[in-house]
Amino acid sequence: MDYNSFLNRDYKSLLDMPSTAKHPGFSLIHALILIVALGVISSLLIFISTDASANKNTSLQTSTAATEGALKDTSQITLPLSIPRETNFATNESAAVFTQTYDKDKAFTRIKHATKQSKDDSPWLRVKVKSGDALASIFKRHHLAPRELHEIMALGKNSANLKHLRPGDIVRFQVDKNQHLQKLVYNISPLKSLHIQRQGKIFTAAMQVKNIEKRSAYAIGKIKSSLFEAGKEAGLSDMLIMKMVNIFGWDIDFAQDIRKGDQFALIYEEQFLNGRKIKDGAILAAEFTNHGHTYRALRFTDANNHSDYYTPKGRSMRKAFLRTPVDFRRISSRFGNRHHPVLNRMRMHKGVDYAAKTGTPIKASGDGKIIFRGRKGGYGRTIIIQHGGRYSTLYAHMSRFKRGLTTGKHVRQGQIIGYVGQSGRATGPHLHYEFRVNGVHRNPLTIRLPNAAPIKKQYRDSFKRTASALLAQLDMHKQTRLAMYP
Ligand SMILES: [Zn+2]
Repeated sequence: MDYNSFLNRDYKSLLDMPSTAKHPGFSLIHALILIVALGVISSLLIFISTDASANKNTSLQTSTAATEGALKDTSQITLPLSIPRETNFATNESAAVFTQTYDKDKAFTRIKHATKQSKDDSPWLRVKVKSGDALASIFKRHHLAPRELHEIMALGKNSANLKHLRPGDIVRFQVDKNQHLQKLVYNISPLKSLHIQRQGKIFTAAMQVKNIEKRSAYAIGKIKSSLFEAGKEAGLSDMLIMKMVNIFGWDIDFAQDIRKGDQFALIYEEQFLNGRKIKDGAILAAEFTNHGHTYRALRFTDANNHSDYYTPKGRSMRKAFLRTPVDFRRISSRFGNRHHPVLNRMRMHKGVDYAAKTGTPIKASGDGKIIFRGRKGGYGRTIIIQHGGRYSTLYAHMSRFKRGLTTGKHVRQGQIIGYVGQSGRATGPHLHYEFRVNGVHRNPLTIRLPNAAPIKKQYRDSFKRTASALLAQLDMHKQTRLAMYP
């Protein structure tokens, strides 16, 4: 695989926003710097690493903390930086050292070198999983013993990961001269790998998880022309600026209300791997002063690992419902009496129609439980969500449902539930959206939306401690800001 594109791919997958070139500066230059750095480091490491080949591909790869439940484990192993085989050493001085000092079998020169001091210098086989591949077909293709496969799959929980190989995944096998498997390494994610090793007559499995170090950073800014310019000046990525907009977007209309002189302060996480910053993390605390009014938001994560933003008093920064559950082009029909275009008579329109392209994602407007998912006469493909005892929302005319969301499943606000279409009785692609309170249809465009739930009782003490620490930090940064902009 081309290592440049590999790095870029993983870097992009870190961002929880659409990955369209948010850090255009990263791609080529950073990758080149990395490769040069790898060349230098590798020429050092290769002499001390006893199992560099086993660890290759685990270096410099990253993932989001959200996908890595195991990251909290403090017993994590940080693997040494080692050499990805993809790295091209042909133009590198250390390559010359290799070929002069070691044998001419080019295919395994580097591997043999790297494992020279290890007990087992059997070569490694690197297999890229193809579409439709399972571990069994890979074993067969490479003439590995079915009995060994069976023993590995019988290892239980850890080796269960091998049942879910995805196309493009890399599995590495160390096979001795008798064609017996010695080791198997599977990179489950850039931070997590499964290591299966022969120990005498049995195999053992171990999970290795690389540790992401989180550091807290802060930024302060004052708007002179635009929020994005002020954010850039404060050293914030577009992603962080968008996160800030999302936190305060319920109270501040960032398209209309931003004024020269508005100020902000942020405390946010930066994530590091092997001492190198890999990405920005979550905003921990934020303050925005708009038109003389100051809003403060604090992040709190509950025991179920669900994070949300609250005011210092513990009230949610969110409303319980999104005003509009779809990014629409125009409102094609409002709530109330109208002439029905298909039925050709006056009729009460009990919802709002949002015209949007077929395939536009539809979001759950609030946290709730799916109580209906299926076809419903003129509504076509429809989902109904129940939100607590009083509220329900309905989404109709979908082209398709989001996979995996069946009746009875819980959804979060903003979670994609389906896609715009024109199933049922519809003249063009649109979302028909209904909002009911105690079973009565209400106008979703004008109804006063309730606030989302405040901090739960059982978390109040814990929230207070988190909040006071974060507020103290914000205040400290405020002093800095006052000194900078008196
Ligand atoms: Zn409608």
